[in-house]
This record gives sequence, C-alpha cells and structure tokens, in this order.
Amino acid sequence: MARIEHPAATETPLEWDTPLFRTARTQFEQALPHADVSPVVAARLRHPERAVMVSIPISRDDGTVEVFPGYRVQHSTVLGPTKGGMRYDPEVTLGECAALATWMTWKCALLRLPYGGAKGGIRCHPKELSEDELERLTRRFTVELVSVIGPQEDIPAPDMATNEQTMAWMMDTYSMQVGHAVPEIVTGKPISVGGSVLRHEATGAGVVMVADRACRQLGFRLSESRCVVQGFGNVGGIAAQELAERGAAVTAVSDVSGGIYRAGGLDLQSVREWVAVNSALAGYPHATPITNAELLELPCDVLVLAAREDQITEENAGRIAARVIAEGANGPTSIEADAILAERGVVVLPDVLTNAGGVTVSYFEWVQDLGRFFWTREETRARLAEKLGDAFDRVWELADDRLLTLRGAALVTGIREVAGAIEARGLFP
Ligand code: GLU
Repeated sequence: MARIEHPAATETPLEWDTPLFRTARTQFEQALPHADVSPVVAARLRHPERAVMVSIPISRDDGTVEVFPGYRVQHSTVLGPTKGGMRYDPEVTLGECAALATWMTWKCALLRLPYGGAKGGIRCHPKELSEDELERLTRRFTVELVSVIGPQEDIPAPDMATNEQTMAWMMDTYSMQVGHAVPEIVTGKPISVGGSVLRHEATGAGVVMVADRACRQLGFRLSESRCVVQGFGNVGGIAAQELAERGAAVTAVSDVSGGIYRAGGLDLQSVREWVAVNSALAGYPHATPITNAELLELPCDVLVLAAREDQITEENAGRIAARVIAEGANGPTSIEADAILAERGVVVLPDVLTNAGGVTVSYFEWVQDLGRFFWTREETRARLAEKLGDAFDRVWELADDRLLTLRGAALVTGIREVAGAIEARGLFP
C-alpha cells in the first residue's frame, strides 16, 4: 500500500469546499502528525467515500410543487455501516454534510462504535413548512435514498430540526419499500416503534456527563458551578436541566429568539413552561433579556454550546469568560478561536467527545432493534456513562502525554482507530 503516490492528496476538491469542510480538514491535518498513520491511509480519510445529491419535489399545501435539494454524505465504511443525522436547515450544502460526516467518523471511532460517519439533510426553511409538508418531504427524501441507506449500509438519525416523528416517517417509508417492519433502519425513533428509552435526552445528558468528568479533573465541582447554555432545544434544553439537577446554577440560556439571564440561576421549570406556551424564550418575564452574542461572553465556569456551528470565532474568542467550553453542537468553534482559547487556558471539551452521547445511544438502539430485545433506562444510562467515561479518560491521558488540546487528542484517538482498521483490512482487491 505504501508505494502508491497521491500527489493531489492535500487539495480539497471543489465540490466539498465550504468553510465548515475546511475547518474539519484543517483539524484533520493538525491531528495527523500525532496520529502516526501512513500517508496512504491519510489520503483515504481526507475525503468522504460517497455522496448522494437528490432533488425532492413535494406538493405544498396550496397545491403548488416545490423542489428541495437533499444530500447524504458517507465518509467511511471501514468499521461498519455509516451513521449520522439528517438536518433540515437553510444552510445545508454538500460541503457542510461532508464536514459533519467526517466528524461523525472520528466520533464513532473514538467511542469505539462499529460505524463510520455520515450526515445528510435537506436545504429548506423547516419553520415555513407545515407538518403535512414535512411528512411528504421526509417520505420522498427517504425513497430517493433507498438504494444507499439500510441497517447494514447507512443508518440515519435526528439532527437539527428533525426529531422522533421524522425518524418514524423514514422508518415507515423504508419498511413499506421492503415489505416488512425495519426498525433498525433509523435511530432516534419513538419508543413505540423500537426507539431507545434514553435516546431523546442522550446528547444533552452525555454533554453533562463529560463536563462533570472534566470539572473533576480540573479540580472543581460541576454541582457548585455557574453554567451558561447556548441553545434550548433537544441538546441545550436537556443539558440545562441535567446541570440544574446536579445542583449547578444555570444563569443563562438562549434560543434563536435571544437569551435570558439571571445571576442567581434561572428557574428552568418556569422557563420550560414559558417556551411550551410561547414557542420561544423571547419575552420570558422573570429574567433579563440578553443577545446570543452577550450570552457567549458571560463569566461562568462552564459554557455549553448547543446551538450550531461557528459560534466562537477569532472575533469573540478573546472575550470568552468561561473556564470550560462544552461543545454540544458540531463545529461551534473555529480553528482560529481554538488557538486563542488554548492560549488563554480555556479548556474546550470537543464536539466529537462531548456530544457523542447521542450517537452512542443510537448505537444501543440499533443493537436492541437488531436483537429485538430492549434495555431499561437505568441500564442504558449506565452503559452510556461507561462509554463516555472510557473515551474521556483515553482522550485526557493522550492530551496529557503528548501535550495536545483535548480536541487534538480526541481527533488523534479517532483517526488512529480508523487507520488501524484500514491497515488491518488492506486495499481491495
Ligand atoms: N446527529 C447526531 C450527531 O451529530 C446524532 C447522530 C446519530 O445518532 O446517529 O452526533
């Protein structure tokens, strides 16, 4: 294998070239010197193995027909089927999916899940679509992808603006195509069709498990800390709740409508009740309104980023006043920001470790679906804590050993796992 030359290996093909893919790619190049992998293996991991682009026509409720672009990118099939979410968002592009699929590969490998990474989605404004339109969009998207997804090929899951219902439609559509119920085609499903009892809260709960372990290593207690959470959805909302349950004061939270702040800690029960009625945090009466930008710069012990990519950049990294940043979202910190934060001694708990609770419980869900045998909540939570704890300890030790940032150590760990499998399998034929 080592004889093959790849002169163009470091160039990014035009198709993938977006800011987020460049971030994923730069992180890979930065980790590579510490991963001890052969240049040929590195060349194979630089780009996704496969990408599918589809056009999805649906009838809008007013009778007109609209066509949406959809994508699915599969980064690596070395360790098993590919795995990753489907997002519905106006920013979805091929390059964005490629970056997110690449991160899924490192994430799954770091957690020692038998998967490679994938990511996909539809470029749309999900809030402007009715429930019926979303159902038609999801079902048609699933049919367009039927030849590339499958329980042993590629297993979708929820991501931004997709949820249990989206997965139920996907599972039903796929099952109707093959003629029998196939719960193991997607994860993050409703419990009634084979979902895990813990999947809904797994990502947020995992973020807090990782943050807790980090605080212990750094010599302070999460239970006595002040926390700020950007995002109040499936990840941020659950993370805030888990933090409060552990005794931490959650002083600020935000969503797309803006943030709210209360120095002594927010009453999250009352915040949730407000959001249930008003669908947004804006206008919540028992706290001070702040902007998302202000929220990021609040002094705190732990700042959880659970909104979207590219939140901490060169522009605001110098003003971040948190001791620890926990990345619940994928790619929220830019390359330049990472360097500034490291220089300033802010500890960044990287996405591929910190938000891996989601895909880990997805893996548990898939295993249970394949075996048609289901675990209890306690069992699932204990196994999640064990998996994340083990990955955290390996990352912490390597960072210590090689004087890497935690992101560097997490990526090196993931890359080494995949590279080891590529070396062992060899090149076909
Ligand atoms: N979309 C989630 C992530 O980015 C979960 C993926 C999955 O469960 O497969 O990790």
